[in-house]
This record gives sequence, C-alpha cells and structure tokens, in this order.
Amino acid sequence: MVDHCKEVKPLEGCGLLFGKGEVITTVIPMVNENHSPVSFSIRSEALEAVMKERMVRGEQWLGVFHSHPTAPAIPSETDRLMMDDESLCYIIVSLALRQPDVRGYVTEGSQLVPARITLQPKESLS
Ligand SMILES: [Zn+2]
Repeated sequence: MVDHCKEVKPLEGCGLLFGKGEVITTVIPMVNENHSPVSFSIRSEALEAVMKERMVRGEQWLGVFHSHPTAPAIPSETDRLMMDDESLCYIIVSLALRQPDVRGYVTEGSQLVPARITLQPKESLS
C-alpha cells in the first residue's frame, strides 16, 4: 500500500482493501482516474471487476486507501464527503514527511472518527 503510494507520487495513489472481519489481507492498488496530486477517483467498472474477483475468493470489501503526497494523513473536505460508508475503513497514507504516516478512519453516525489500525509486515499483505 505504502509502496504503491510512493510509486505514483507526486500523484495521489489509491486502492481497495479486502479481507475478513477486521483483518485486511489483500491490498489492490487502483488507477487514480483523476491523475491528480490533490484528489483521486476510481473508475466504477474497475471497482466492480475487482470486487467480483475478491468476493469469489470469499473476501469482504473492508476499505479504501489513498495517499496525500504532500499533506498530513488528515481527511480533506472532499474526503469527508466521500468517506460516508459505515461498513468501510478509510486509510490515508501521508508521504509529506520522510517517514510515511498511515492513519485509518471510520464513519460513526455522521462523524468521521480515527480508527485503530495495526500494520503488518509486507509479506502478510501479499
Ligand atoms: Zn484525501
């Protein structure tokens, strides 16, 4: 996830997270249709194709990640509007500092609140 975001910097990177329960086991980098350093979007056809493929494998859609190449890992106004699905976790990878800052958020009611996330070594996310 962080590697993908670094690769596409200075543009925002994005992708989908799948797994079971609260454990994300699969990270699928997606093309940022906006090709923008300050926003992202995922083409719905591409999203549906990946969803089908993962669900066949018995995985659930757990979240969405995107990067902030030069800003902190705090949701922008646009992010807040987009992060409205209570069943998903939204992860922001900030590359503003030398050490990437990865933070998760979930929607509770109409509030976006920080979520506790634990990063596993890369091997377990392959
Ligand atoms: Zn954002």
